[in-house]
Amino acid sequence: KNGVVIVGAGHAGVQAAASLREEGFDGPVILIGDENELPYHKPPLSKTFIKDQEAKPQPLRGEAFYSGSAIDYRPGIRIDAIDAGARRLEISGGGALGFDRLILATGSRPRILKLPGSDLSGVLSLRSIADARLIRALSAQSEDVVILGGGFIGLEIAATLRAAGRNVTVVEAVDRLLGRAVAPVIASHVRQRLEAMGVRILTSTTIDRLEGEDGHVSGAVTSSGEQLPAQMVIIGIGVVPNVELAEAAGIATANGIRVDQQMRSSMPEILAIGDAASYRHWFTGADLRLESVQNATDQARLAARTVLGHADAYSAVPWFWSDIGDMKLQMVGLTSGGDSHVVLGDINENKFSIYHYAANRLLGIESVNRPGDHMLGRKMLGAGFSPTPQTVAAGPEGLKAALA
Ligand code: FAD
Repeated sequence: KNGVVIVGAGHAGVQAAASLREEGFDGPVILIGDENELPYHKPPLSKTFIKDQEAKPQPLRGEAFYSGSAIDYRPGIRIDAIDAGARRLEISGGGALGFDRLILATGSRPRILKLPGSDLSGVLSLRSIADARLIRALSAQSEDVVILGGGFIGLEIAATLRAAGRNVTVVEAVDRLLGRAVAPVIASHVRQRLEAMGVRILTSTTIDRLEGEDGHVSGAVTSSGEQLPAQMVIIGIGVVPNVELAEAAGIATANGIRVDQQMRSSMPEILAIGDAASYRHWFTGADLRLESVQNATDQARLAARTVLGHADAYSAVPWFWSDIGDMKLQMVGLTSGGDSHVVLGDINENKFSIYHYAANRLLGIESVNRPGDHMLGRKMLGAGFSPTPQTVAAGPEGLKAALA
């Protein structure tokens, strides 16, 4: 009996292993990851880790968890190919491993930007603890940092390094921050507060080239011809899903490994979860690939149930958070496609929430420093409960009463 093999020991893979045991799976569980680390939390990397030279990675589970749950965790191993017919994996450097069921939790990797100078040393991106260590070490010797990309990770890093005293410039190609991930009011609020911290933000701007001295980056030249000094450049322009393994094995992909409501790929004995997987959302009908801890762990729980023969359909409510300086952003639901909204709280006090509606149905809530609204939103959306905009406008007490 070969049991279940999980490829990728990030948020999704580790949760899948844990959930298999919680659900009562008693066959072999092998968890393979190409990093040489005890699997760790990624979110702190851009928020706290890179400014604190003493910070340690935060393990997802203690070492004892793996042995105690009979999970055979094998770090530092890369899978090069899947032979789906023979149910076998090829290990980089030689060797093979059989499986009865395979869970692909290969995650995503930073999108690469090719421009003159992008291969200079000091041009980095952030995905793994190894990347974070490089950024932390170089940040100690860098006065000026240029960040390409005004998305969550870029802005988190900007706030973190600014708080650590660096001169930080964020360069964003479109005319606003955070893409279309949040409402324009939130994006401009975030911009204002970052600028108040001293972060310089250039929107509608790209970088034409990077310049270097002795092989190390020394500056960036913007599309408007400005020369920005930089001893470190961080590229944060999004990620691409790691689908190559699946693709080469003949598994269907389209912006991610395609999965059904039970997380099965086009080859049903092979499942996919997390950043690498794309699925049709049960409510909006849209094909989605989400990049969040919630998505990774909830899909992992469901995949474990699928392996055990259950047929529940994936229906978790998406949620996400991001800490940017003194702003705790929390999002629940899918807020694009809304046609009206209600604002609670006070933008000037840096504490407010936006309740998004489409045709009088609550789609989701975006909060800044209002965790109570977020938690309530998770309950409401999870229960399929949509308060009227009037009830929301009356404040959280009325909402709690309506939900009870
Ligand atoms: P990953 O965690 O990326 O794990 C995939 C693992 O598989 C990696 O270790 C990879 O090396 C390994 N792998 C890939 N291919 C192979 C192979 N062929 N063989 C062996 N191993 C392989 N989300 C939030 O919700 N909130 C946040 O605040 C937040 N902050 C973030 C901050 C940073 C700096 C980063 C990088 C991400 C953040 N995210 C956040 C996103 C979140 O971390 C991801 O959505 C989550 O890690 C996805 O989990 P995953 O298991 O699918 O992928």
